[in-house]
Amino acid sequence: MPNPSALPTSVKNYLASPRPMLINGVWHSPENAALIDCIDPATAERIGTVYAAGGDQVEAAVTAARHSFTDKRWRAKTPAEKARILWRVGDLIEQHADTLAFLETLDGGKPLTAARQGEIPAAAESFRYYAGWCTKLGGRTTDISIPGDFHAYTRREPVGVVGLITPWNGPLVMAAWKIAPALAAGCSVIIKPAEVTCLSTLYLGELLIEAGLPDGVVNILPGNGAAVGAALVQHPQVNKVSFTGSTATGKKLVQAATGNLKKLTLELGGKSPVIVYNDADLEKTISGVAQGIFSNSGQVCVAGSRVFVEAGIYDDLLGGLINYAENLVIGPGLDPATEMGPLISDQQLNSVRNYVDSALQEGASLVTGGKKLNRKGYFMQPTILTGVRPGMRVMKEEIFGPVLSVMKVDDMAKVIALANSSDYGLAGSVWTRDISKAHKIAAEIQAGIFWINCHGIPDMAMPFGGTKQSGWGREAGLEGLEHYTELKSVIAAL
Ligand code: ADP
Repeated sequence: MPNPSALPTSVKNYLASPRPMLINGVWHSPENAALIDCIDPATAERIGTVYAAGGDQVEAAVTAARHSFTDKRWRAKTPAEKARILWRVGDLIEQHADTLAFLETLDGGKPLTAARQGEIPAAAESFRYYAGWCTKLGGRTTDISIPGDFHAYTRREPVGVVGLITPWNGPLVMAAWKIAPALAAGCSVIIKPAEVTCLSTLYLGELLIEAGLPDGVVNILPGNGAAVGAALVQHPQVNKVSFTGSTATGKKLVQAATGNLKKLTLELGGKSPVIVYNDADLEKTISGVAQGIFSNSGQVCVAGSRVFVEAGIYDDLLGGLINYAENLVIGPGLDPATEMGPLISDQQLNSVRNYVDSALQEGASLVTGGKKLNRKGYFMQPTILTGVRPGMRVMKEEIFGPVLSVMKVDDMAKVIALANSSDYGLAGSVWTRDISKAHKIAAEIQAGIFWINCHGIPDMAMPFGGTKQSGWGREAGLEGLEHYTELKSVIAAL
């Protein structure tokens, strides 16, 4: 484990005192507020603390956001002015990428290289992508059929004050995926990061201020989900909530949002199928399928956790996957050699191990992994199960850990039904050299995003979200921006 004194000074300074919350452009450390411990999952040790918001702070943040929306200090800026500020946020994220990457690794456990080369640039890209849309968003004019002389057009208007609730598996990227389109649309924002990974979102708050965002337009409230998150979802002055998290919590949000019928975007769980045909490129498929489940220790909503393999390639693929899993370097994210970091918490580790136990009790075979690592922190071996059947818990429920279930399929005519036999419908992939077969499968699988000969690659231009119980609505792309707007039709008699 690298010596903590080797942390950059910027990171040490940031962690030296409890981090305050951002309300109306001011950093608050309420006297009576509880402190949330920030735990490094690689050591199980506390690395810092943040102030937790309570009811008073929720009210203050919603009032600040509402006020900033009503007086139009942000939404009345010209599209070009908004674009410049969002672009500047992207630049600042890049300038502070080292600090942000360390915070992301210390707080969430992911390998530093993945954070530095993947997640932090992706967060910057979200602000730049939506900076571009500020000057392109608009309505349309249309000729209408009512007799007479009319001018008719539509307008895209900001939906209002929005609550953004993010998960712990990709804290900065998820914050950027939500804040950037909300701001591009002209909304005012209250964001509640997951209680276990608040640091990078709070740091982003400093960059938003430095970029010139007016006070009160983005407010950041760390806090408990059932308290602060639920309060935002119930609040009559919040017009929309965009949530990324579990399907179980998503269902609670649907019920809690009925008071003012607030708009909801829900990006929920997944149980993504991966379909491998005999004619797949074996080497590329092995590494692609393995990365599809083991990256971020399997704590990814689009993780390809169910693999359906045509019989002819089954032995070679399974052998390759086992070899890949057994050679993955597991360790603290700060160690440059690490390829797979810890799980987020002891609770998550136990939950994942319970899933493995349940599979074994239901008759599956463990071909590699399955154990907690005998060291401090929440480390688990990459795990592969065979002999799985569709009804087993590991084939039905989202595990959110490095556990891959591999099923041999003798009759590939059944593979679409097998892949679609899930309550979830988030993502999936197919691996084959037959491009016609690949596109036919892509059309049949019930998913919001599907990959051919790759898995788990998002892009800002491609709408991202789920069908079935994987959620409502899409993030990224123009569609991800339109969710933060209301459409108004205007008909003028001339
Ligand atoms: P997990 O179980 O993996 O932590 P959740 O879906 O519970 O996933 O959490 C995702 C986000 O939702 C977190 O920011 C969490 O604090 C928040 N959250 C949890 N419960 C609620 C709730 N009842 N209302 C609103 N937000 C919640």
